Amino acid sequence: MPGNEGSNIVSEWQKSRCLALTPCIEGPAIGIDLGTTYSCVGIWLHDHVEIIANDQGNRTTPSYVAFTDTERLIGSAAMNQAAMNPMNTVFDAKRLMGRRFMDDLVQNDIKSWPFKVMPGPGYRPMIVVNYKGEVKRFSPEEISSMVLTKMREIAEAYLGTTVKNAVISVPAYFNDSQRQATKDAGVISGLNVMRIINEPTAAAIAYGLELDKKGIATSAKRNVLIFDLGGGAFDVSLVTMAEGSFEVKATAGDTHFGGEEFDNRIVNHFVEEFRWKNNKDISGDATAVRKLKTAWEKAKRILSFTDETTIEIDSLYEGIEFSTNISRARFEELNKDLFRMCMERVVMCLKDAKMEKRKVDDVVLVGGSTRMPKVQQLLQEFFNGKEVCKSIINPEEAVAYGASVQAAILSGKKGLQALKLLDVTPLCIGFETGDGDMQVLIPRNTKIPIRKEEVFTTSADNQPGVLIPVFEEGDRIVRTHGRHYNNLLGKFVVSGLPYLPKGAPKLNVCFDINADGILSVSAEDRTIGMKNMLTRERNKIRISNDKVRLSKEAIEKMVKEGEKYRERVEAKNALENYADNVRKMIKDYDMIGSEFSADDKKRIEDAIEQAMQWLDGNKLAKTNEFKERKKEVESICNPIILAKMNQMFD
Ligand code: AMP
Repeated sequence: MPGNEGSNIVSEWQKSRCLALTPCIEGPAIGIDLGTTYSCVGIWLHDHVEIIANDQGNRTTPSYVAFTDTERLIGSAAMNQAAMNPMNTVFDAKRLMGRRFMDDLVQNDIKSWPFKVMPGPGYRPMIVVNYKGEVKRFSPEEISSMVLTKMREIAEAYLGTTVKNAVISVPAYFNDSQRQATKDAGVISGLNVMRIINEPTAAAIAYGLELDKKGIATSAKRNVLIFDLGGGAFDVSLVTMAEGSFEVKATAGDTHFGGEEFDNRIVNHFVEEFRWKNNKDISGDATAVRKLKTAWEKAKRILSFTDETTIEIDSLYEGIEFSTNISRARFEELNKDLFRMCMERVVMCLKDAKMEKRKVDDVVLVGGSTRMPKVQQLLQEFFNGKEVCKSIINPEEAVAYGASVQAAILSGKKGLQALKLLDVTPLCIGFETGDGDMQVLIPRNTKIPIRKEEVFTTSADNQPGVLIPVFEEGDRIVRTHGRHYNNLLGKFVVSGLPYLPKGAPKLNVCFDINADGILSVSAEDRTIGMKNMLTRERNKIRISNDKVRLSKEAIEKMVKEGEKYRERVEAKNALENYADNVRKMIKDYDMIGSEFSADDKKRIEDAIEQAMQWLDGNKLAKTNEFKERKKEVESICNPIILAKMNQMFD
């Protein structure tokens, strides 16, 4: 039971922690927007952010992972084969991060996913797929780590060097378990996660820097509403910018709302249309549903520019084709309630920030779904005709842009230290009182990092310990602070108290939320006059939702598996790079008139050709096999190259 002693926010401590940005990292540091449907990576290079395109030349990469009989595919390669292999193509893993299997939202999603999700250890959801002929189970963190690995590889290919450090973004509305799960995914992918950054904060940084570049004065205070509607998450945040400082005043959103909801609504509509036209139900056919979804997603993008479009799918189901027209007006009508919900969140955010809408200087659009004209129209109407800002930076790239700036700040890049980030907690944190209610200790939208203390005592004579269940506010829509609606983060136990009358022990419990928004709780005995009797050490634990979080051992195992995969990729790349370099060298020597003898050239070319042919037929070879093949080709080429060099420089 909490005692009556006062609790106070340690604001000086908070101030001192805000900008403790000590650079202590080696090598490049990237910013990753790990999205529900698409991910994006960037880096601060030569005084600006470079958003890095993938091997297909696209600046965003699908957050998809697919498993086949022979290989694992990530990104576009995974998405492109989804209709042929729906059961083993995993997407939306972000929606499962840090959640329990029985969570209503998880149960709801499972119904619309073609891949299987089963309960795993500790009530965690596990994704079940067929991989190389075996049934395999993956945690959402592992799937996300594969997407992160892909983003890291995209950056490494561009930079030509290993990348270890990253800032990863999360929706502002992510709770403690979801943030921790994202961090764990980063660790599994072998990254040093320098910081977890809130997506709207990242977008505000991007917007602020772009204004600066365009010579628009940012010295005066500006209130910016960041409206971020992506594929699977929605955030509305009010950020105040002034002289390089970004302060999130309030945030409202939904981790489970985005373009996917609009898509599912229309796909269901088409399923009904097919049933009505052909008297056949295709809802249970994963391949047909995926074909519809892919065709619709393309059509949706077209509808952002035109009034009407057509969808035509040959042989959608049992050889029957599907052809239909859909207008933008019909699409908007079918999703009326979803559009309305978007605006309700804007109102909520302004209310929390205690700001009138006329005081908002800029409305910034972030996330691919803000390309829908209805969203722009509703916002413009709501803000009395104010132009929404959509052209300054690509909405899909703004978050990765800001995350890259944050990565540069944390790695000590010059000229950026002046930027200050002041983030807030998205949810109330509190503890359960004796009557089962939640007493809020750290209210929603409190600036982080934050430390708050509370004195607890016993409620019975000779009570041996105190149990403090720490809660986090549940679904935002359900405002009741009852046990049922809030997430239990963990139970903090102080045991071994000496026999004392009730109310005599004084336990100072400290709730500490770090810059990543992750909470830890510690307790200290402050029982006056009891010094001799109390020998326990300061008690400190990291509170997290242990039931949801992966165990340390599980993470270590996954890290090892990730390393094995990376070693294989590195060995394969090393062989390819060697072949490329040797080919280039032969060309260079030809160019400077120092060509190899025809015989030597043929031996080198044959060796390289053979190695490349072997590579084509053995993409799934083991690390050692790649290494051996490289040694083999080196044993033929290197002596010839060395002899040539000696001959040239003798
Ligand atoms: P993001 O997570 O920011 O990459 O946004 C992905 C979401 O944006 C997906 O649901 C896409 O279908 C959606 N999207 C992308 N471009 C458009 C567009 N032109 N019109 C409507 N929705 C779009």
